[in-house]
Amino acid sequence: MTDVVSISQVLGGTIAVGTMVTVRGWVRTRRDSKAGLSFVNLNDGSCFDGLQIVVVNTLEGYEQSVLSLSAGCAFEVEGELVTSQGKGQSVELRATRVVPHSTIADPERYPLAKRGDGKHFTPEFLREIAHLRPRTNTFGAVTRLRHAMAMAVHRFFHEEGFYWVNTPIVTTSDAEGAGQMFRVSTLDAMNPARSPDGSVDFSKDFFGKPAHLTVSGQLNVEPFCLALSKVYTFGPTFRAENSNTARHLAEFWMIEPEVAFADLRANADLAERFLKYIFRAILSERMDDLRFFDQECKKGDSPYVQKGVEIISRLEQFVASPFERVDYREAVKILQGAKKKFEFPVSFGVDLQTEHERYLTEQVFNRPVVVMNYPKAIKAFYMRQNDDNETVAAMDVLAPGIGEIIGGSQREERLDVLTARMDALSLPHHEYEWYLDTRRYGSVPHAGFGLGFERLVVYAAGLANIRDAIPYPRVPGSARF
Ligand code: ATP
Ligand code: MN
Repeated sequence: MTDVVSISQVLGGTIAVGTMVTVRGWVRTRRDSKAGLSFVNLNDGSCFDGLQIVVVNTLEGYEQSVLSLSAGCAFEVEGELVTSQGKGQSVELRATRVVPHSTIADPERYPLAKRGDGKHFTPEFLREIAHLRPRTNTFGAVTRLRHAMAMAVHRFFHEEGFYWVNTPIVTTSDAEGAGQMFRVSTLDAMNPARSPDGSVDFSKDFFGKPAHLTVSGQLNVEPFCLALSKVYTFGPTFRAENSNTARHLAEFWMIEPEVAFADLRANADLAERFLKYIFRAILSERMDDLRFFDQECKKGDSPYVQKGVEIISRLEQFVASPFERVDYREAVKILQGAKKKFEFPVSFGVDLQTEHERYLTEQVFNRPVVVMNYPKAIKAFYMRQNDDNETVAAMDVLAPGIGEIIGGSQREERLDVLTARMDALSLPHHEYEWYLDTRRYGSVPHAGFGLGFERLVVYAAGLANIRDAIPYPRVPGSARF
């Protein structure tokens, strides 16, 4: 029995031609030549490309095990690695022993059988077979890219001395408004416990009060920041917002670093190092998958990607350019002076729309931009108030081709300013006592940001829809599989 190797090892050039190896995977295509050879493209998901297997029809068991191979069949083969005669691959495997693991009785009914018209399966169709779509080029590539990016996230923070904190998924503080949260409850939905006034009695619920799925780990990670100095969260986050867009999921993964003794500038610097690190990692580790997406974008006929985007050169430019930094006030002036007519007019106090963000990063600066110091009225209560009393130390990182990719801020570390802000927004203190304790005991300036992991995947791969950036998308009306 020879060594079992992955196709990624074989194609990676680490195994010498002439070596006997065993590979396992799933058949993508089979072609039989008149000269008595069968060519099987075998994919094991370890890398983008499959390995070409060449089987001569005189091999023992050829008719039973090779002639029945169709797309999707699982197959194991032992053979000698040889230099390929054909185009499209450098090496191929000359089979000496074949073991079919499974055949498909009715190949026509295999949902991923090659379409006669050569067209792409529609994204909607593949979402209906989310259990089979990992076998497609697109979802194999997304999955490997996601992995490489997630590993890079952890590596980046680890190398920078951050600790990963697993903040809870169930929460009883409705930090960002209960309206967009999913309720977690064990009360009988048909016949819940009720108070004398007829309202639902959540004191009888599992946690003794209303509970929800978290929309952000930030408030929970801040206390760890004010003890371990540099921390981050990376975990599932939930939003019950009914936005059926190509940018929103009901369940997504969020990355939220939080740094003590840091101001907004340090925060922007961290965001810049972070994004560049992730993109550099995939440029060096996953060129196979990036090349696939790059070609799909250029070809322009794939419904999975944005047409005409050059994702590789976009990433290369991203990692090579120093980010621009601009004040919100300055950005507003630039936009007001722009020749371009915007759908939404701009003035101090408005939140920038994607059209404004993209104009700034694509037309004005032609590189990623950090917009800093937004009006306090449009930002969250925990953001640090600036001396002008009008703005807070908030920042958005804008990237060409997408607009906002990161949102963050320096946090309000002064107890009196923070509570005054909460009063102005009618936020009940008793819900936030534990959070306010962090400002009572050993408070220091600190800052952090949040970004949705799937938005990053969408950007890196040039995907058209965020539903294809996660294995099993959860969106309004759909949580199958
Ligand atoms: P948007 O305006 O796009 O809805 P937001 O202002 O609600 O975003 P934040 O509350 O700042 O977003 O959340 C932090 C990050 O989480 C965002 O920058 C984005 O990357 C990501 N994010 C927010 N909502 C979603 C969602 N529904 N699906 C996927 N990612 C999301
Ligand atoms: Mn939102």
